[in-house]
Amino acid sequence: ESIASSLDEVRNMKMLTTNLLNLARRDDGIKPEIGDIEPNFFNTTFTNYEMVATENGKVFRFDNRIHRVIKTDKTLLKQLMTILFDNALKYTDEDGEIQFEVQLKDKNLLLRVLDNGPGIRDEDKKRIFDRFYRVDKARTRQKGGFGLGLSLAKQIVEAFKGTIQVKDNKPKGTIFEVKLSIKTESRKKNR
Ligand code: ATP
Ligand code: MG
Repeated sequence: ESIASSLDEVRNMKMLTTNLLNLARRDDGIKPEIGDIEPNFFNTTFTNYEMVATENGKVFRFDNRIHRVIKTDKTLLKQLMTILFDNALKYTDEDGEIQFEVQLKDKNLLLRVLDNGPGIRDEDKKRIFDRFYRVDKARTRQKGGFGLGLSLAKQIVEAFKGTIQVKDNKPKGTIFEVKLSIKTESRKKNR
């Protein structure tokens, strides 16, 4: 069962590229379709990521601090999480360690993805969210990809009226921090 589940995740990640290209073609912007997400969605996703990481010889740790149902677009959220996880996996070496944290703070969903890869220089930090921008073309070419992941991550974040930031990890590596405003139960209107 767990192998099937992790194979699904790999297929999912392969589909990411196709999805990214489809999303990139849409210039009408992204319209979130809001639905319920159970806290267990994160456990399932992280368990699958863990299997993919292990398969690639990397260490994956996660911390799910979501304990209630939240309302957001599951497909877009998953896409966003996978873009960041895929990068952390792709841009760490054999000793790769990736950590993924999710929590709620004042009506915001906070995502943090930490890795111990080579990090991103300050001058590149400003450009990685641009479409087709890739640091060190020669090195990244052999890793595959289009330089679309983060530009789409940013579009998704903007569709949620959120923010995405990139910081340095210590002693080395990168941290991506995402803040998304989450719909709470709509209050009954008094008429
Ligand atoms: P795609 O996502 O389309 O498969 P990509 O990974 O190259 O290709 P982005 O996800 O947009 O494109 O990332 C842009 C660039 O930012 C990458 O090419 C890489 O140079 C750099 N980058 C992204 N994430 C990390 C990270 N966690 N550590 C180091 N560099 C990163
Ligand atoms: Mg990428």
